[in-house]
Amino acid sequence: MDAIPQTMGPQFGRRSWAEPWKIKMVEPLRRVTAAERVSALRAADYNTFLLKSDDVYIDLLTDSGTGAMSDRQWAGMMLGDEAYAGSRNFYRLEAAVRTHYGYAHILPTHQGRGAEHLLSRCAITPGQLVPGNMYFTTTRLHQELAGGVFVDVIVEDAHDTTSLHPFKGNVDLGRLEALIAKEGANRIAYVSLAGTVNMAGGQPVSMENVKALRVLCDRHGVRIFLDATRMAENAYFIQEREPGYADVPIAAIVREFCSCTDGAWMSGKKDNLVNIGGWLAVNDWTLYEELRNLIVVYEGLHTYGGMAGRDMEAMAIGIEECLQDDYIRSRVGQVHYLGELLTDWNVPIVQPVGGHAVFLDARAFYPHIPQHEFPAQTLAAELYLDSGIRAMERGVVSAGRNPETGDHNFPRLELTRLTIPRRVYTQAHMDVVAESVKTIFDRRAETRGLRMTYEPRYLRFFQARFERL
Ligand SMILES: *Cc1c(COP(=O)(O)O)cnc(C)c1O
Repeated sequence: MDAIPQTMGPQFGRRSWAEPWKIKMVEPLRRVTAAERVSALRAADYNTFLLKSDDVYIDLLTDSGTGAMSDRQWAGMMLGDEAYAGSRNFYRLEAAVRTHYGYAHILPTHQGRGAEHLLSRCAITPGQLVPGNMYFTTTRLHQELAGGVFVDVIVEDAHDTTSLHPFKGNVDLGRLEALIAKEGANRIAYVSLAGTVNMAGGQPVSMENVKALRVLCDRHGVRIFLDATRMAENAYFIQEREPGYADVPIAAIVREFCSCTDGAWMSGKKDNLVNIGGWLAVNDWTLYEELRNLIVVYEGLHTYGGMAGRDMEAMAIGIEECLQDDYIRSRVGQVHYLGELLTDWNVPIVQPVGGHAVFLDARAFYPHIPQHEFPAQTLAAELYLDSGIRAMERGVVSAGRNPETGDHNFPRLELTRLTIPRRVYTQAHMDVVAESVKTIFDRRAETRGLRMTYEPRYLRFFQARFERL
């Protein structure tokens, strides 16, 4: 190893990370004026999903489809084979998923929810239960529309924003075992396992947990399907925190983890570094045949599934890039940099910081705003008003209503998500974001909540409208 100057480096316990790329093309950002922000937020009725992107300065709404592709991916776009059937890019994608995630049969889908839809319809019999490590909005909705009933089996620590448990995404095996004992294994459709749990704050699942889960499920003949959307980020936390994995490459960790599951669905717009796309992969031939049959009804032929050939090529390349150790270290490192700034300023956030976002704890931020006045939605609105930075609500609005009683689901976590797009913003942008959060935190006592004036039936957080109380 090269000599390290004595003023920095390992005596501080670490070597700094840096992005394993340099910038070749830039996209100008516009700082939106205060007057423009007020009128834009009013026109959007306090829902950041309804803002025009042109009215946003730094966009942390989501890490979904917002990443920057590499020069190799853009070059790959020129290799698109737009044949209706049997495009060569499909075979590239199929090989990439087989090699890196290890599943036998692969179907492209237009994005993650397309895959969720097909899997839910083929793997759930109406009335069956679908235990999962916390819910995800589109995942649970597709399970419910297929007649399934979601049951949360995540560890208790996941609901505590201050718990420093290193794997808050883990399945509570005792709780799952009790559920199987009570309901019988044939009432369980499958275990719906997510690699890094988005709604818990991007928290990972340990290798030990997935291995024990496999043993438990084998004992009862229950299948495990993985939401692999952020599995590369999950692997980084295993490498960082789990004994025995410090020297195992990210790609090998992902393979090992996936080998404990029966199949997976993917939103390629996250880990896989593309602006659109997804896939579904299973090992069981019979299930694959059903999925392959249904895909032509809802997505497209099984060799394109709603994607252009060029997009499949970009995703195949993205799969390789997202599993490189240097990349994932800088990706998560940037998220943690923002988390550390906010922690230093005593802003309440979910700890430990997850893989794709910093989650502000809106309950602790605004203790005087009751949950039915939407503290997390309020926080997102305030942040936009202060600086033009766009965040997203992950609280009672996202949780929707109980389909039986019609009441709000009141989740224990009431969060506002600062989601970091991949390979898009710099550390200086993170400084600007942290300073704006600090500003609205300092004037939190004056802030009032919101009232919902329009509520859509499905996934209401996307299109709901609010007014200031
Ligand atoms: C985004 C997401 C999905 C849905 O994928 P889309 O590509 O948005 O349809 C599913 N699961 C998780 C964990 C996600 O973050």
